[in-house]
Amino acid sequence: MKYPPVQNYIDGEFVNAGSQRKFDIISPIDGNQLSIVPMSTAKDLEAAVSSAKAAFAIWSKFPIKERVQVFFRYKYLLEKNLKELAELVQEENGKTYDEAVAEIEKSIELTEFACSLPQLVTGEILEVSRGVECRTEHVPLGIVASIVPFNFPCMVPNWTLPNAIALGNCMILKPSEKVPLTAARLAMLLKEAGLPDGVFNIVNGDGEIVEAICDHPAINAVSFVGSTRVAKIVYQRAAHHFKRVLALGGAKNHLVVLPDAKEDLTAQNVTASMTGCAGQRCMAASAMVGVGKIDHIIQKICEEAKKIVPGKNLGAVISKEAQERIERYITEAEQQGASILVDGRGAKVEGKEKGTYVGPTVIDHVRPDMAIAREEIFGPVLSIMRTETIDEAIAIENKNPYGNAASVFTQNGGYARYVIEKASAGMIGVNVGVPVPREPFSFGGWNESKFGVGDITGKSSIEFWTKLKKSTTKWNPEAGVNWMS
Ligand code: NAD
Repeated sequence: MKYPPVQNYIDGEFVNAGSQRKFDIISPIDGNQLSIVPMSTAKDLEAAVSSAKAAFAIWSKFPIKERVQVFFRYKYLLEKNLKELAELVQEENGKTYDEAVAEIEKSIELTEFACSLPQLVTGEILEVSRGVECRTEHVPLGIVASIVPFNFPCMVPNWTLPNAIALGNCMILKPSEKVPLTAARLAMLLKEAGLPDGVFNIVNGDGEIVEAICDHPAINAVSFVGSTRVAKIVYQRAAHHFKRVLALGGAKNHLVVLPDAKEDLTAQNVTASMTGCAGQRCMAASAMVGVGKIDHIIQKICEEAKKIVPGKNLGAVISKEAQERIERYITEAEQQGASILVDGRGAKVEGKEKGTYVGPTVIDHVRPDMAIAREEIFGPVLSIMRTETIDEAIAIENKNPYGNAASVFTQNGGYARYVIEKASAGMIGVNVGVPVPREPFSFGGWNESKFGVGDITGKSSIEFWTKLKKSTTKWNPEAGVNWMS
């Protein structure tokens, strides 16, 4: 094992979890074991909650301008350690080094937003009657939890932790058991940045610890990012215990390509979207709906896809199970009559035979009823469906149960506007394959891609991580109108 066993992080210290149950951390790049991670129990969670509770009494009293000073230093430390963090992300997640760098850069941007929170969370005050003032202020919730997936070991934790903590909460992070090493490194950087002990804690584990988090009476809010299946479980279970919950789920993003779309730009964007991070992005292009005569664009997409080489500019998928699942979907589509234009099955990288790679795959003449068209594949696979009209294309997009992203490729502003209006997704791209809104705009889908109110980043996160206190004060006994008494 390259790294020592992963530990929990509680009250500013790395400590062993109580359980003997462990999960091997295997690098998808070459199949080598990196470490092991413990599956924590409710007792470990109790220790994290006690530490967060004690810290909250102090941290929540710091003025926000003081709290964000930690994040100015944390941002600098992310920059200073960018290369090392990117290497760690690459090792445990399997994405390419450049993609890992982009993930750290995005984490820096998210932290910059948290640093700006004092300018954004000002309350309101108004004299509502003579001598009588109403005032609002954003108050932290208390102890909050963030449960995260494997696909962005650095960025997704940074969707929640800088904002939640800068706003005065104390956080318990539950990393994905597949990629817990980066989270541990973030804890060290936060400590180095001067974050008081107990404000940020990590409990490692799987579904058992997530259930304990949902049930714990002292945890006030739960943020979840992962598959729709688990998002539903977490949303229901945490809400059952009267917690504030925001649960982001899976996706099936549709790209509507019109015949007037710019050939090169479209092909490059579609290919980058479907193959980036080996298709393991909740914003990845997964289904393309080509309207009318678009053979020339499909041909260009295939040319672009063939330039994407596993182990070079295409990373590995997370595990052997994921590799087998993705290949099963491709084979099933083939058996059902779809045409495999570019086939990524059986991809091998020399010298890394145990790595779990799937090459870029382009499948044409997919029917909307096929599993590959309906389900989240989470691999570098593009399923192409054909329609005669925009409305048919929109009907296919609308019918899918998810709603993270949708894009349209065209040079016609009217058509673009039409798709923006009709698509049933929270984030829409026009000639953009991965329409992630950057800070200060917020990130969040619709339908089965998100359960709960508001979005996870940007200004929207202020509402999620705080509660509003409304106070009405009267200091002038001479006030003429005394309707308050
Ligand atoms: P996952 O749902 O398997 O796991 C997410 C988290 O839930 C992990 O921490 C895991 O330990 C925990 N978990 C797993 N099974 C559980 C159970 N039965 N009960 C309670 N907790 C459980 O997701 P993943 O495979 O790590 O990540 C990929 C998924 O995440 C994809 O579906 C992807 O679309 C989605 N995702 C969505 C967004 C978004 O913004 N909507 C962002 C990133 C990833």
